[in-house]
Amino acid sequence: QRRDIWRISRQSVGDDLAVIELINQTAEADISRAHTDFVANASHELRTPLASIIGYVETLDDDSDSIDPATSKRFLERIRQEANRLQNLVSDLMSLSRVEAEKHDLPETVFSLMPVVERAARDGAGHDRFARVELSTEEDFHIRGDERQIEQLVRNLVDNALKYGAPDEKVTVELKSARNRQVCLSVTDRGEGISPEHLPHLTRRFYRTDPGRSRASGGTGLGLAIVKHIVERHRGRLDIESVVGKGTTFSVRFPVAQSTPEPDQD
Ligand code: ADP
Repeated sequence: QRRDIWRISRQSVGDDLAVIELINQTAEADISRAHTDFVANASHELRTPLASIIGYVETLDDDSDSIDPATSKRFLERIRQEANRLQNLVSDLMSLSRVEAEKHDLPETVFSLMPVVERAARDGAGHDRFARVELSTEEDFHIRGDERQIEQLVRNLVDNALKYGAPDEKVTVELKSARNRQVCLSVTDRGEGISPEHLPHLTRRFYRTDPGRSRASGGTGLGLAIVKHIVERHRGRLDIESVVGKGTTFSVRFPVAQSTPEPDQD
């Protein structure tokens, strides 16, 4: 049960009158609690791979004479995996703090969406992106925004679709026009889907429907929190539609820019 938090701000007492001003501090307390939770969660996420790395290094160091080469190779591989996990986590934490810091300054640059979407959807190591990602972008659109952030948004959604989609099924990235002079960018996978009770929480920092699976695939639990902030900064809207056993579509709508971009100066 939620209880509001009040603070007494001023008391003036006259002969037969007492005036007390009460200020509701619930919102501030919520922000402060969210901040403390975030620091605790982030510390925990950082500590787990660090503890593994230290454990493996100590074992290798203490038992260096008795460990056979195959085992030590396996340990080194684990150390590399955990170090990569730390690197992804730190890089996502930095992205998140950057997008949070910039969330109130409306980006000025007008750019063409198609090349950004193509780059984010197709380029990148680690996945068989070229074989699995299908682009359906007949028309180009211009939006006002931060090109780097939009690229990151598409990359995060496509990474998730590849991770949680069925391995032998395509991921479709579509760009089409929407009502009210908007463009709709959608990423669809034919994977396991997400059950409805999770949907409202997916953009919360470190929220995962299956933490083991997310971690095993290199997930940080921050990808969709970053997406949400980027969407808000661009005055956009994020919708998630999912059918368990069939797949998921993440769609983002942005206002189309009125003016066209400056031509390149050669
Ligand atoms: P993670 O690094 O765990 O992928 P995200 O913030 O990108 O973190 O996503 C949060 C959670 O949302 C994931 O752990 C997963 O449970 C769920 N999720 C995201 N995208 C999909 C998808 N396309 N299909 C099924 N579940 C998804």
